[in-house]
Amino acid sequence: MTYRELYFELKKKENKYLNNTAIKTLLQDDGGFNDFFNLISHFDEEVKNLDKINKNIERIMNGEPLQYVLGYAFFVNSNYVVDENVLIPRQETEELAVATLKTIIKMFGKEPKIKIVDIGTGSGILGIYLKEYFPNSHVICTDISENSLKIAKINAKNHNVEIDFRQGDMLEPIKNENDISVVISNPPYIGDSSSVEPQTLKYEPHLALFAEPKTKYYEIIMTLIDSAIMSNKFLIAFEIGEDMKEELTRILEEKYMGIMYKFEKDIYGKDRYLYIIRDEGITYVA
Ligand code: GLN
Repeated sequence: MTYRELYFELKKKENKYLNNTAIKTLLQDDGGFNDFFNLISHFDEEVKNLDKINKNIERIMNGEPLQYVLGYAFFVNSNYVVDENVLIPRQETEELAVATLKTIIKMFGKEPKIKIVDIGTGSGILGIYLKEYFPNSHVICTDISENSLKIAKINAKNHNVEIDFRQGDMLEPIKNENDISVVISNPPYIGDSSSVEPQTLKYEPHLALFAEPKTKYYEIIMTLIDSAIMSNKFLIAFEIGEDMKEELTRILEEKYMGIMYKFEKDIYGKDRYLYIIRDEGITYVA
């Protein structure tokens, strides 16, 4: 069977799960083609592994996310291995990664030799992405889940970067650190499962999604603001739930009066990021 024949056969079955992106991606994956243009220029060639494609189609038709079926997900500029032990990277998190990169450059220069910590690293995307841009920095990635660290280690190896991986809950793995300049985190922040897509609820790790109360992990990480393990000048960069701005503002104003902070919206206009900065009154997040 050729890619052309299979493509049009699958287009007839197209539905919510087996959508056009899934169809194209499955065929591209089979042939090792990096985009649709590449696929159509090989349209009349034989499909390499029809059995595997058929199995994958069945999983996708059952609602399993495409990225788990393929075993990898695209994040910012490259692929990362994922399985059901780690969250699938979201577009919102790509924005966090890129904006944090820019803020680090503004605060610490283009080739900083600083200590960066990614708390709850999951697949490792945030820490690995920053280490690729800042090879002279010491990047520590933590997670409570051994299984997610296994995936993150594969991703670090595939991206040729040295990461200091540590297993443990929240601040525990960094309690004996000092001079930390950057903390980045996309912690679990969903309080109510009724807002979650059924597909996410069924397949993605609940450990990575839910928090009770939903500000729990932010409150723990925010204690770093007053902590001796932080450098004099620091950045804490968070992804947050779209309904958390008020509550997090209240906590910052009550417990950390005078600290500089800034909320930012994602491309959909939702409050999605919180940047906390200490640096003698200089404003970086305009
Ligand atoms: N840091 C990972 C991500 O941003 C994992 C986040 C999580 O599991 N809550 O996707």
